[in-house]
Amino acid sequence: MQHKFLLEYAQALDSKDTLHHFREQFYAPELKGKRAIYFLGNSLGLQPKTARDEVMIILQDWANFGVEGFFLGNNPWLNYQNKITPLLCDIIGATEEELVTMNHLTVNLHLLMISFYQPTATRYKIICEAKAFPSDQYAFQSQVKLHGFDAADAIIEVHPKEGTELITTEDIIAAIEENKDSVALVLFSGINYYTGQVFDMQTITKAAHKAGAYAGFDLAHAAGNIKLQLHDWQVDFACWCNYKYLNSGPGAIAGAFIHKRNISDKNLLRLEGWWGNDANNRFKMQNTFTATATAESWAMSTPPIILLAAHKSALEVFAAAGFHNLLQKSNALSEYLFFVLNHINQPVEKFKIITPANPDERGCQVSFSVHKNAKIVFDQLLPNGIFADWREPNVIRVAPVPLYNSFEEIFIFAQLLQQILNAA
Ligand SMILES: *Cc1c(COP(=O)(O)O)cnc(C)c1O
Repeated sequence: MQHKFLLEYAQALDSKDTLHHFREQFYAPELKGKRAIYFLGNSLGLQPKTARDEVMIILQDWANFGVEGFFLGNNPWLNYQNKITPLLCDIIGATEEELVTMNHLTVNLHLLMISFYQPTATRYKIICEAKAFPSDQYAFQSQVKLHGFDAADAIIEVHPKEGTELITTEDIIAAIEENKDSVALVLFSGINYYTGQVFDMQTITKAAHKAGAYAGFDLAHAAGNIKLQLHDWQVDFACWCNYKYLNSGPGAIAGAFIHKRNISDKNLLRLEGWWGNDANNRFKMQNTFTATATAESWAMSTPPIILLAAHKSALEVFAAAGFHNLLQKSNALSEYLFFVLNHINQPVEKFKIITPANPDERGCQVSFSVHKNAKIVFDQLLPNGIFADWREPNVIRVAPVPLYNSFEEIFIFAQLLQQILNAA
């Protein structure tokens, strides 16, 4: 389709968009009495208007029933997880039994590494992307140390080729093959937070398995953003946060996936608590742990129901819109964003788009590095009603999400960016 850099054109795309009205189901910050353009769903997703009611139900049940709230009320707390997992299957590409909602992302990364990073004297290396999100790097380093290895030796980072920003699948596979006798775990993000690049999870998993290693993914920027098929891809485990694209609130309860074949692997180590104990025995208070037959066997503690309620309300909006529909709209938004960015980036190139244009290699986030006065350019966005994100030294990230962003917002953003760049 030949796009146009025109307000009326963008508005016409919105009028044809059957998901456009979903933006009214979210609160958005305002600036000078006007709804701001919020391109930060990759950082903290907006609040669904239903979240408050869903949380209030829990508070009310607590008020009415006290501890009996675990068994009484509309959504008894005891089985509240069961309301969440069915809503996640499509988004994660997993079966219900492979999903558990618990803790927070970095905590889950550590817990899963306890299971899937069990190094031996000869097989102890972790292969990951260079410039992984800092929290992940700290997790890798401290896990390696926990097992008595030296991070400089045990952590193999795959770098982009000289002069480029993206890491090729070939280089990842080559690193795995080079270390095929010593690699214990291959752990990448699904989407790199900085470049917006999607990693080929299926191919990476295959290569890891061929080398005799586990493959896991941090899906912080992938969950709710791109199509995932963790089960079919044979991924061993994954974890993600729910406050980015999944709109479940600041510090939301996080998610984890453990492939079915690993759940039933009796040799896999796991840190355990009473909530992972089979529900039929959980309250018998015996000293023997009988694992739940699902990924919930990794859960340790009484779930925070208030957080689960906010999460549930957010997932229900996804279900109402249909994840498949959202992915289609997401790609349409991104294509228009690429078009307008390329349009304003000529005749003189003022910035470079880092994120791959190919829809298979990106989600909705687009990162671009600004050649001149980058910070000054960025600092003019928010006063003009645009929430975007800054990464040192000169990168601006914008993420138009299909649930609450529009084609018109993309046009307005590009028009403003053009003015700012011309003045800078
Ligand atoms: C956002 C993000 C985190 C944050 O971890 P928390 O434990 O939720 O604070 C970690 N890793 C990646 C890749 C992220 O994008």
